[in-house]
Amino acid sequence: MNYSSADASETRDYMHLFATINPFDMTFILHKTNNSDYRVTYANQQGATYFRREGKNSELASDFFTEDIWMTLKNFMNQLSTHKDGYKTKIFLPVYEELEVFDLSLLLVEINTQEPIIRMTLTNRTVEEAERTKLLETKEKYESILDHNLDPLVSVNSKGEIEYANPALSNSFGFHSHEVIGKELIGFVDEMSRKSFSQLMERAFLGQSIDLEECSFSHRSGHFVPVYMKTIPIVVHNEVTGVHFLIRDTSPHIENKEKLFYLSYHDHLTGLWNRRALKEHLREDTRFAELHNEEITIIYIDLDRFKLINDSLGYNSGDELLKRISDRLNMLSDRTSKLYRHSGDEFVYVLRHSSKETSEEFANIVLKELNKPFYVDHQEYFVSASMGISVYPADGKEMDVLLKKADQALFYVKDRGRAHYRFYQEDMNHSFPNEALMESHLRRAIEMEELSIHYQPQVDLNTGTINSFEALLRWNNRKFGFVTPAQFIPIAEESGLIIQIGEWVIHQVCLQLSEWQQKGFRPMRVAVNISPKQFKQETFAHQIKQILDKYGVHPNALEVEITESAMTNMRETLSVLNDLKEIGVVISIDDFGTGYSSLSYLKRYPIDIIKIDQSFIRDIETDTKNAAIARTIIHLAHNLGMEVIAEGVEKLKQVDFLKEAKCQKAQGFYFSRPVPIDEITAKYMS
Ligand code: C2E
Ligand code: MG
Ligand code: MG
Repeated sequence: MNYSSADASETRDYMHLFATINPFDMTFILHKTNNSDYRVTYANQQGATYFRREGKNSELASDFFTEDIWMTLKNFMNQLSTHKDGYKTKIFLPVYEELEVFDLSLLLVEINTQEPIIRMTLTNRTVEEAERTKLLETKEKYESILDHNLDPLVSVNSKGEIEYANPALSNSFGFHSHEVIGKELIGFVDEMSRKSFSQLMERAFLGQSIDLEECSFSHRSGHFVPVYMKTIPIVVHNEVTGVHFLIRDTSPHIENKEKLFYLSYHDHLTGLWNRRALKEHLREDTRFAELHNEEITIIYIDLDRFKLINDSLGYNSGDELLKRISDRLNMLSDRTSKLYRHSGDEFVYVLRHSSKETSEEFANIVLKELNKPFYVDHQEYFVSASMGISVYPADGKEMDVLLKKADQALFYVKDRGRAHYRFYQEDMNHSFPNEALMESHLRRAIEMEELSIHYQPQVDLNTGTINSFEALLRWNNRKFGFVTPAQFIPIAEESGLIIQIGEWVIHQVCLQLSEWQQKGFRPMRVAVNISPKQFKQETFAHQIKQILDKYGVHPNALEVEITESAMTNMRETLSVLNDLKEIGVVISIDDFGTGYSSLSYLKRYPIDIIKIDQSFIRDIETDTKNAAIARTIIHLAHNLGMEVIAEGVEKLKQVDFLKEAKCQKAQGFYFSRPVPIDEITAKYMS
């Protein structure tokens, strides 16, 4: 190489320095010539070997480099005047037929006052670039695993400071990565969880990947969120340099768990505790009571005639009403009393630390609460309930025994007029036969001649005369003794036996009527109770006709009592009632006012008589609401041209009221209990 400038030595020194700094790169020094060309005044070994062209020994750059390379280089060279700090770029140069990437670095170097020289470096980056790309790819891959992880992930360094946080962190905890980076992770952990967190961290830095099931992590809005944490140590060259923390919000999981717990111990319709909860709580309660020598009271509640409501309202509204009822009942429960839904319309209260007085007081409050009306779809409904009460430890220590005895007491109440409560007593035991057994006895009741009919007179309130009776079925079983209709009619209905039994009743009544007719007694009418199942038979009217014909009974001597619940299907009902009307029998609506059906049917159906249910007659002389209802029913019936019979009349005051309200007829204990036929014949037929 030649050095043609005066201060060649200085340049040489520089070049020497330069060459030693960059021993593996191609380095060149170029000088600008007067006619805007460049001379290559220095090229190191690599540069010279790479670019030296065969047969050319000129310093002129255009000779030194191949034409196209020099064109590229010169282009950059010319830009240098505007880049005082040097110019860096990448260019591709052929290496063994392949293009490889090089870093091109150009710098103007001023040495004394000389025209500045240009330092050019070419560094082959191909290998490095490939590695860098690979690294970048790996890094990106790795980062995308972290970034796109649905679980929040943070990475901490050896000091426990957060160095990375993925986007999921903000979804779960509200913090964006820039808000947490640089902060200590433990600062986000709830005080209570810090000890176990520190242990987790310690073990993670020992290289263990472990998890923490229960921990609370801060949410940006200030509260703590339950989380599951898992550590993944970051191991570089066999050394743990940091730890990734996977932090999963477990509140939905916990919610599910709680939901599951909730569902298994609560009734889905009413939200009350269910039977399973009752069993478990009661076991605990009795254990506690035994330790502390205390009493527990079990109040078994059954809604009166709820089946009727369900039948006539339909199940949706029935459910709605049940919810209202349970809400109201539940308002009475507190720290010492809990309410459970035992089944359909049965509820159980468990009262702790109770006494006979407090339980009685409680039962009275329940009765009173239920006395107030309920509203469903803007309709007012009245319900009543019967309650049976058993007491721990007097009536038993086992839960099953206590429930059974409360149920027996309940049964006793149901049997004796409902809407009240009773404490269990030993003698109730006998009045509580097993239903399945009872059904099997009932099946043979007709052939065993255990059934009979009692008649209750219906009194004309104006004249005091009697020309009609209600036939009421009686069952005297050899095992159970007298069983009341309230006990066996539901069993007969459920088992379907009611069809056969009901038919038997009609036969008996018609037989009786024909006997009276044959004996020449004055015309009498007998009302027969017809169960909904009976009434809904397609052949019902036809059957009645056949029986009347068989005994030669005048159709208007027979009255059929139908409850509102039997008349849910308007079209079918109308067709049967019309058929009955055609035959000529008298039609009455029994228990009017308790069936919750629409009043519009009164207008459409050919009904002759309305029987006001005894629940409205009870206390009519003092209960202004009942009085108003009774008066309204009488008024309504009269306007529609129907007769009214009041049921359950027990007192003179009720008679007075009914007379004043212009009710035509009444039946009840005040006049006569239902009595056997002989008594009727003797008393009223002569
Ligand atoms: P129901 O048709 O409303 O009959 C009136 C019930 O009230 C009868 O009860 C009667 O004994 C009772 N009673 C009458 N006067 C009074 C009174 O002044 N005070 C009180 N507290 N009660 C009074 P019973 O005989 O126990 O019958 C109960 C229910 O069983 C009847 O209610 C009826 O729905 C049903 N039933 C009775 N016999 C038959 C039957 O042959 N077939 C069908 N399907 N059901 C029947
Ligand atoms: Mg009746
Ligand atoms: Mg009735």
